[in-house]
Amino acid sequence: MADTLTKLANSPLTGGLVRALGLPTPPALARAKEGWVAQPFVDRGVVLGAAPGGFATEAARSALSGAGARVLDAPPAQEGRGVDVVVFDATGLATPTDARALYDFFHPVVPRLARNARVLVLASLPEEAAGPAAAAVARGVEGFVRSLGKEVGRRGATANLAYVARGAEDRLAGPVRYFCGVQTTYVSGQAVRVTSTARAPASVPRVSALRGRVALVTGAARGIGAATAERLAQEGARVVLLDVPALQEALGATAARVGGEALALDVTAPDAPARLVEELKGRHGGVDVVVHNAGITRDRTLAKMTPEAWDQVLAVNLAAIVAADDALLASGALRDEGRLVYLSSISGVAGNFGQTNYAATKAALIGYVAALAPRLAPRGICANAVAPGFIETAMVAKMPLMTREVGRRLNSLSQGGLPRDVAELITFLGSPGAYGLTGNTVRACGQGLIGA
Ligand code: NAD
Repeated sequence: MADTLTKLANSPLTGGLVRALGLPTPPALARAKEGWVAQPFVDRGVVLGAAPGGFATEAARSALSGAGARVLDAPPAQEGRGVDVVVFDATGLATPTDARALYDFFHPVVPRLARNARVLVLASLPEEAAGPAAAAVARGVEGFVRSLGKEVGRRGATANLAYVARGAEDRLAGPVRYFCGVQTTYVSGQAVRVTSTARAPASVPRVSALRGRVALVTGAARGIGAATAERLAQEGARVVLLDVPALQEALGATAARVGGEALALDVTAPDAPARLVEELKGRHGGVDVVVHNAGITRDRTLAKMTPEAWDQVLAVNLAAIVAADDALLASGALRDEGRLVYLSSISGVAGNFGQTNYAATKAALIGYVAALAPRLAPRGICANAVAPGFIETAMVAKMPLMTREVGRRLNSLSQGGLPRDVAELITFLGSPGAYGLTGNTVRACGQGLIGA
């Protein structure tokens, strides 16, 4: 399953050969190291630009400087010093002529971007614009950012967009830290909405964001679930790791490694919702973060699909999630200011050959978070979905070689992501600082071409 091409392309011995053969040369991607959290932007080249009339510039500036950045308004004069982080406030764009500000700002900055740089653009919500032309310009920023992501991805950089609702700019600190941080490794070309929908928490801790909180991760024995449990524990959460009884041994080992508690339970068991309430409310007093990660595939074209394959996928990937949420909400086990995160998939965004059952469930979760978000907002609970693309786990190891190799390369970074990359996004969405995001679906797909 190892990605040999990425290793060869980044080795001084073989990199030249890979290029000479005309093969894709996937960039080496940066990932967060322990201890980066407190002051993520210290010693990084951080540039903040703005179109005239923007309403989010000062909020972005204080988010960056609050995280240790010395914020410049243009790339540093000395040659050779790269730009690691760029934030541009495009909320002031109102006419097609104004859009020129995107070109004027980015044209000189892009050649100065360092490897693995991070770009975040802020735009107004199109539906809040003064008229159709202003809405068009705001929405146009998305096309700009998605294209920029494709251009800068060759150097391992990411580019993302946050639409900011008027009045929600004070919620930007968390999204700015995430989208400008090194941990955004495999999240690029995304557009999220920062709004005042959910009630704001009383306070937002900067470090150990989840200390004193209880988290549940389903499907946590391995893969994305195990990596998520580990990251949540690193942020201070008490983590309950759930997986099927057949994987009890692996589950116990993962739980021991991350310092969490194992719960061997099939999420489709008739008593699973009651067992969850008993475990989380009874033993832990409640739960703050729920990551619905357990999922299965039973791929076949629809004509060849058995009813069992349809039913199993619908049961694990959708019905069990709805039943668990209903029980956690009805029992009061899910505490105020809770965070719900659901594992969707790019198959749910774009559809996929042989995955009618799977894609139905993964698209369903996109609709589910959109409907759930306003209902839970008065309690400060946020619900978001994460849609991974090609992630190097047991699930993709089952693919035929050529399908796997194509899936791996068809994205702006020309490689698969690691479970850890998805875990970083889930951990951000699970944290108190993500209170501006609810009802969103964010892809962790290296800006995959599928469903782009
Ligand atoms: P994985 O197969 O490695 O892990 C999934 C875990 O869920 C397994 O440990 C499995 O035992 C558990 N599980 C399955 N059925 C269960 C049940 N009935 N009760 C309890 N646990 C159960 O998969 P992964 O690649 O880590 O994927 C995690 C999630 O991300 C899934 O929902 C998957 O659909 C989604 N996803 C993965 C990818 C990818 O490329 N790996 C892409 C898109 C979406």
